[in-house]
Amino acid sequence: MLQKNVIRLINEQINKEFFSAYLYLEMSNYYYSRNLNGFGNWFKVQAQEERDHAMLFLTYLQNNGDKVVLEAIAAPAKKYSDFRAPLADALDHERFVTASIYAIYEEASLEKDFRTIEFLSWFIKEQGEEEKNTENLIQKYDLFGSDAKGLYLLDGELGTRIYSPPSLII
Ligand code: MG
Repeated sequence: MLQKNVIRLINEQINKEFFSAYLYLEMSNYYYSRNLNGFGNWFKVQAQEERDHAMLFLTYLQNNGDKVVLEAIAAPAKKYSDFRAPLADALDHERFVTASIYAIYEEASLEKDFRTIEFLSWFIKEQGEEEKNTENLIQKYDLFGSDAKGLYLLDGELGTRIYSPPSLII
């Protein structure tokens, strides 16, 4: 069994990951409602990944014989001023999640909980990817998004994103 503080932080992380899935589904809905189905698809895949993250943290607690505590998932914000706003919000949110995972890692390090440290290393790499992908998307939007033709092509590109399950096996 894990230390109490580590268990508490992982339970909070389960909620944060499910909230991330909700947030990205809301962004997906926003783009679908404006006929940017490629952006909608990109965020729907993103939501599926977040659900997977939540399930990985949940399974980790179960495998260690610790209690999973499921709390209410907050409703995401629903108003976006323009097509760029969700992208900027998504990057802010990924940075928030990265800081949250670092905090669990720090606690696990203090407790010399090497099993959790090892488990979290996948997420730390994953967060690097998430931030980079979102930054790339913002850069592409800033380059091409203000032109209707460019936006159309970018939307087409984002429509090709396909969900694949996480590489981490617990
Ligand atoms: Mg995540």
